[in-house]
Amino acid sequence: MTNIHELSAPEVELQLRARTVADDLLPTTREADRVGGFSDEWQQIQKRLHDEGYLTMYLPPEDGGWAASITDLVLVQEQFARHDGGFANVISHEACASTMLQFAQREVRDHYIERMVAGELTAICISEPTVGTDIANMGARAAREGYGYRLSGDKRYISLGAAADILLFFALTDPKAGLRGGISAFVVDRHQDGIDIQPPEDTLGFRLLPHSDMTVRNVTVPETARLGDEGEGLRIFGEGLNLGRLGGGTQAMGLAVGAYERALAFARERETMGRPIIKHQAIGFKLAQMEVDVEAMRSLTYATARWLDRTGDIGSRDASMKVAVAKTHNTDVALRVCGEAVQIFGAQGIWRSNDVERLFRDAKVSQLVDGPNELMRLRIANTLARG
Ligand SMILES: Cc1cc2nc3c(=O)[nH]c(=O)nc-3n(C[C@H](O)[C@H](O)[C@H](O)COP(=O)(O)OP(=O)(O)OC[C@H]3O[C@@H](n4cnc5c(N)ncnc54)[C@H](O)[C@@H]3O)c2cc1C
Repeated sequence: MTNIHELSAPEVELQLRARTVADDLLPTTREADRVGGFSDEWQQIQKRLHDEGYLTMYLPPEDGGWAASITDLVLVQEQFARHDGGFANVISHEACASTMLQFAQREVRDHYIERMVAGELTAICISEPTVGTDIANMGARAAREGYGYRLSGDKRYISLGAAADILLFFALTDPKAGLRGGISAFVVDRHQDGIDIQPPEDTLGFRLLPHSDMTVRNVTVPETARLGDEGEGLRIFGEGLNLGRLGGGTQAMGLAVGAYERALAFARERETMGRPIIKHQAIGFKLAQMEVDVEAMRSLTYATARWLDRTGDIGSRDASMKVAVAKTHNTDVALRVCGEAVQIFGAQGIWRSNDVERLFRDAKVSQLVDGPNELMRLRIANTLARG
């Protein structure tokens, strides 16, 4: 790889190590995608990621992590996403949980970080059967009771729902206040009476991650389980989501890189009419455009990550704008790049055994996960309108 993005020596080492791990796990990744849900293969991948320290890399060393920067997260996720979007998504999912854990009270924070370092996973529970984008109207409630809260609500699309031991549960504490001041966040042990998690859904893409529905009924938690102040859920959600959304943009970039690398190798080998297909201008120009697209995505993503690292400004309006731009651009372009890769492979492109078929499916999902692109454009337009 040419180092045109001026990565430091430790960053290059991190990137190469992540590439090796992803390559080692490729056969397991393929099988996990084929089977879907909470499979043995998924558990093998989870174990390897935990053993290598990737699931807690963003934690400070005193908490058992490497104090990874946002740029480090991006470099690792790009390598993982070259083979599978869901594989890379685990990293941003866990990083997102860590951002939220910064809002927990000291003892609660220490308790859950210890569990995460021991290998327990976190699920983020916001979306509901009737409310995905429109979270101000969520049905989940947290009612004050004695020295704590009583939580109830139905949640949907919960990634890692079937695998997680720790839940970050969002609910309305003040339905009248709605989005601004009405939502609160709680950290909840998943193994409590009243929490029921459904078997994972069978999905088009990101199949490696189990996605489940969940019901929470009359689960009581102490006041210390609340993250931040009452009504601060939107801020907590926003900070975690900005990190998760940059992860979404990074995953899309990695999917495109993986599809491009495979299509390029194939086009140099495959011959028709006496020459490699890359020498036919129609195919050569497709690959040229893929090179342009991949490099533009990489430059935008690395620049956004470096800006977030430099400013430490993860929850600001500027950060939300920059992340929304990278997420929207990369996920739309990745779908085009992965589609062109399928086209270059010809009929082989749609075989289940062909990696580009999986990357194409995951690229479609990337436009929906971490906030659909319509919502991203709405956010960008609103920011532009405010001036
Ligand atoms: C793979 C995957 C993993 C996920 N993991 C989690 C998770 O772990 N935890 C979690 O809480 N959620 C998760 N989600 C949910 C996700 O974050 C989104 O909230 C959800 O996909 C969008 O909600 P919805 O499907 O209910 O769509 P709706 O909100 O019903 O919207 C339907 C369509 O209308 C569009 N739309 C809605 N409102 C507007 C508007 N005002 N203007 C223009 N267009 C609009 C949307 O963009 C979408 O295209 C996941 C989703 C996916 C796909």
